[in-house]
Amino acid sequence: MNVLVINAGSSSLKYQLFNMDTEKILAKGNCDRIGLDGHLKHKPVSNDKPVFDSPIPLPTHAEAIAAVIAKLTSDEYGVIDCLSEINAVGHRVVHGGRKFSSSVLIDQEVIAALEDCIRLAPLHIPANLMGINACRESMPNVPMVAVFDTAFHHTIPESAYVYPIPYKYFEENNIRRYGFHGTSHRYVSALAINELGGNAEGTKIITCHLGNGASLAAIKDGMSIDTTMGVTPLEGVPMGTRSGSVDPSIVDIIAAIENCSLKDAMDVLNKKSGVLGIYGKSSDFRDIETAAGIDISNGNPKPDADVDKKAALALDVFSYQVAKFIGSYIVSLGGLDALVFTAGIGENSPYIRRAICSRLNGIGIKINETVNAVRVSEFLDITGDDSIAKVFTIPTDEELVIARDTIEIVAP
Ligand code: ADP
Repeated sequence: MNVLVINAGSSSLKYQLFNMDTEKILAKGNCDRIGLDGHLKHKPVSNDKPVFDSPIPLPTHAEAIAAVIAKLTSDEYGVIDCLSEINAVGHRVVHGGRKFSSSVLIDQEVIAALEDCIRLAPLHIPANLMGINACRESMPNVPMVAVFDTAFHHTIPESAYVYPIPYKYFEENNIRRYGFHGTSHRYVSALAINELGGNAEGTKIITCHLGNGASLAAIKDGMSIDTTMGVTPLEGVPMGTRSGSVDPSIVDIIAAIENCSLKDAMDVLNKKSGVLGIYGKSSDFRDIETAAGIDISNGNPKPDADVDKKAALALDVFSYQVAKFIGSYIVSLGGLDALVFTAGIGENSPYIRRAICSRLNGIGIKINETVNAVRVSEFLDITGDDSIAKVFTIPTDEELVIARDTIEIVAP
């Protein structure tokens, strides 16, 4: 069975086509600048056909899906003969609100419920719906599944998801901690549990998904019991351009300083803050580490390199906040068996892993510096001697989780 995984944003649409008998990717790519001029990058993986990487008119998501299907089935760039070889479609949906605690088969009722979630994620859900609707129009007979970023965190207890604000906002308006990156936290924690012996019961794991967006999850017995992101993906640790948790009064203060609306002040926290806000020149950790005089291939300082103080400070603020949340989650879990690093930074930055873990030495978490400096794109046990918990680097694969959930629902 082949499953097409779709991750639709407001002006972009990423896709991967999986053969689920082998769990191998047949092709992948992304449509960019939808609604503007349009660009498609399509990469066949299962054969030697060339990459397509060119501007192509994409006025709406419907044309984007049509272009993806045309490439997947074309003689020159294709990996399947015809549309009927796509047996199911899995959609990444950012927010499932209070209603969705697991992946679901998409029908009219689900679409109506998603429309109800728009207020909680006004930028993301409409984009996800555009992707879903475009696929339903192009492939009306193909079953489709929605996989939610929030679903894995539905096991978080009330004490961790209720905000200390008037309770009516929870009861009447569904304002609570939801958490995001659920497919990633679920995937890497399951692999960590395997590594710990395979029995989820009794395990205490902290997963650190550190990419452009970053979140941590505390996972007990294989279930999320707390996570750093909240009702939106702005809360928690500092990120590429997002502030993470700050004093909420800052929004009001920035609005007064800039003489701008609260919405514009929120934009500052979402788009101009995080490590970009401190360093000022880039949100990309490779740039920031390099500016701070770090050799990104091994995480060590380069001899005689210039050190940009703001770049070094941005890295310090980031690793301090991540370490602080790890410490607090050890309290939530009542101990720790494994600390897991994943996503772009977590998988690839020996410097950041060391900067975080060195702050945890005092509570007995230690890494092996030599293994930590090895850069491989696979599972790595970087646990140091006498560490109280294992420390793993585990590459995430959110698309594979979506494809697996889709198969499980469509062909159980
Ligand atoms: P997204 O949230 O967009 O999926 P990713 O998980 O791809 O993000 O992570 C992107 C981040 O990973 C960027 O900040 C990038 O600089 C960082 N990154 C990738 N490779 C390295 C590396 N070798 N060293 C440090 N940071 C890296």
